[in-house]
Formats: sequence, C-alpha cells, structure tokens
Amino acid sequence: MSSLEPSHRDTRMDPYIDQYADRTGSMTVSAVRALFSVANRPEVVSLAGGMPNITDLPLGRLGDSFDKLVQTKGVQAMQYGSGQGEPFMREKVVDVMAEEQIRANSDDVVITCGSQQALDLVTRIFINPGDVVLCEAPSYVGALGTFNAYQAEIHHVAMDEHGLVPSAVKEAVTTLRAAGKRVKFLYTIPNFNNPTGIQQPLERRRELLAVAHELDLLVVEDNPYGLLTIEGEPLPALRSMDPDVIYLGSFSKTFAPGFRIGWVLAPHAVRERLVIAQEAAVLSPPVFSQFAITDYLDNFDWRGQIVAFRDMYRARRDAMLQGLSDHMPAAATWTRPTGGFFVWLTLPEGLDSQALLARAVSERVAYVPGNAFYADGFGSRNMRLSYCFPTPERIYEGTRRLGKVIRDELEM
Ligand code: PMP
Repeated sequence: MSSLEPSHRDTRMDPYIDQYADRTGSMTVSAVRALFSVANRPEVVSLAGGMPNITDLPLGRLGDSFDKLVQTKGVQAMQYGSGQGEPFMREKVVDVMAEEQIRANSDDVVITCGSQQALDLVTRIFINPGDVVLCEAPSYVGALGTFNAYQAEIHHVAMDEHGLVPSAVKEAVTTLRAAGKRVKFLYTIPNFNNPTGIQQPLERRRELLAVAHELDLLVVEDNPYGLLTIEGEPLPALRSMDPDVIYLGSFSKTFAPGFRIGWVLAPHAVRERLVIAQEAAVLSPPVFSQFAITDYLDNFDWRGQIVAFRDMYRARRDAMLQGLSDHMPAAATWTRPTGGFFVWLTLPEGLDSQALLARAVSERVAYVPGNAFYADGFGSRNMRLSYCFPTPERIYEGTRRLGKVIRDELEM
C-alpha cells in the first residue's frame, strides 16, 4: 500500500470517524472473532469456538425432505412472512418448550434470527443509554456485546457453584437504585452458563425468582443449552415457574445454527413491542428456515436426535475432564458441567490467560481468555474451554498441550 492510500483499518485515518453514532464507541472487536483465524488452522486443537457438532445429522434424508419442501411449498416458503414468525412455527416452539415444562400460548412467541437477535430486540425495547443490565459474573460474550451496543451499563453479579447468588442480586439492585440508577433487567443463563457450564439447581431458581418478585425486577432467561443435559434430567426453566420471565430459546444447539431460528416468549404487552421492533429490524424472520425446521420437527425423530447429541457431548465432556485431571498442575481448578458445551478453568495464581494465549497457539491449542466474559476487566486468571466441536481424542490432546503450556509458564 502506498503512503497516499489511507488504511481504513487504522481508526486514526478513518475518514468517517466524526460521523459514527456514539453507541459504536462501546463496540469492540470480540476476542472470539479475533481468535477464529488462528484457531481454525487444522493443526490447532480449538477449545475456543462454541460451534455445535452437527456432523451426525441425517444430511441425506434432510436433503430429500427439503427438496420435497421446495417442490410442494416453495412459493410460500420463499416469500416474505409474518414479522412475528409463522403461526405453524410458533405452535412448534410451544411443543419444544413443553419439554422444559413451559406452558405457553403461541401468540406470545416471537420468532427471531437466532436467540442472538432475540437478545437484540429485548435490549432495544428496554434499554436507554445508561440503564443497568445485571449479568452473571461471568456471562455470554455475545450478550455483553449487545448490551454494550445499546449503551447499557453492565453490572456483574456474583455466582457460586450453584450459579447466581440471590442475595448478591438483591444487594446489587438495592445499591444501584439507591444511587439513582434504573436497573432494567437481570440477564441469566440458568442452564450450563456460557462460559462456566454451571447450572442453577431447582432451589436456587426458586430463591432467585422470589428475590426478583420482591424487587420487582424483570428476569430475562437465556436457555439455548437446557435440553443438552448430559447428566440427570433437565430442570424446569425459570419461565415454567413464573410467567413474568422473558424467555429466549433457540434451535441452534438442538438442531442446527445455520437456519438462524430462535425465539422470545414474553408477557403479552412486551410481545407486542417486540413484534414492532422485529418488523423494523428484519421485516420477517427467515421464512424458508421456519418451513425447514417445521418439516424436520414433523418428519424426523428430533427427540431421538437430542438424545444422540447428549451422548456425543457427554463423551466429549468426559474426554476433557479426564484430560484436565491428567495434565493440569495441582493449583489449577475447573468446573465439571452436567450439560452444555463449556468448562471454566481457573489458572494458578500469577498466570494471565490472555498473556498465555500466544504461547498456547504456538503449542497448537486455543481457548477463549476469561476477560472476554466480563465487561469490567475481570477474568484474567480464567479461560473458557469448549468440548463441543473436536473429537474426544483431539480434546484430550488439546488438554495435554494446554497442560504443558501452563506447567512451562509456572516453571519460568
Ligand atoms: N445465548 C447463549 C448463552 C449462547 O451461548 C449463544 C450462542 N453461542 C446464543 C445465545 C446465540 O445463539 P443463536 O443466535 O445461534 O440462537
């Protein structure tokens, strides 16, 4: 590049710099995205990405079924649709939620482009700049990005091995309100939190909902992993215990993420605003995807497929836990998830996960540094390790490489 050509990647040379909206100031390149280019090299065992493993889906039969769908219903399936989502899809979503003991009316469901867009819509209708969102400490990096994009103030609330601590929620809300802040909602992932893998037990859920009621605090429950319980039975969703909870669901992990179909279940008044926001955002969520997913739910053994997914993820989780116990130094600790995709590792004192990443990648293993999951710079001694995508053998090998990097660092 010659010196006369400005680099638009260099923000100092960005000719549009005075024109961007204030909200872009809080947008940062996600650490996960920056990592993907290296982590995707075949020699690297990536324990970084959260991609579901869908290689065992019956692709041949799905192809035949979608072919028939195009032949018989293509004109409708490739047309614009309803902003709220197709009625038949919303009915199916009600059936899927019944698996987690949620009873709902399909009229209160809004179909979205993945639960990521559900997060965007909920934030869009509730958050003014400076409003507070409470999140777990740590919480899903994609949700933090959305809250930041709407200039929310993110406050993290302490978790223990049973998830969010209800007394800490109460204390945070009381203190923030006393300081004149508007606390708009609590965002929580009760099943296999991304990034820790922690699940809230039933009693904790009851306590949390009681505190939310007492404080008149809106709860947003994000539950993409609930049906991927790999030990024990799935626990009832918060929404099944309290109809005031706003619930976010997704087909990304129980079927496939490429269709980009998720949903929000919300109290009626909220649902109306969500639909208006949804129409302004995308007119209608992908119609073809809704036909395809409905076809899958009608004609395939989707419950059996979820059981197969559970078995596959359990074997991967076991490989990771075995590898960690074989290879980690004694001073490292980690969570033991009973579902979902993630283990949260705490490094021995004095080590920094971000500083260690370049070494890890040169040893051909990748992870996500813990500070990506905090809005306030915490998490430097943590890393998120995903067991969803590589084979059990590769996962085991990845933990061996990571163990070596950490041990070498401790000896330096
Ligand atoms: N919430 C959580 C907790 C997630 O982990 C993810 C995906 N990694 C999403 C929401 C978004 O998923 P999708 O948009 O594919 O439904």
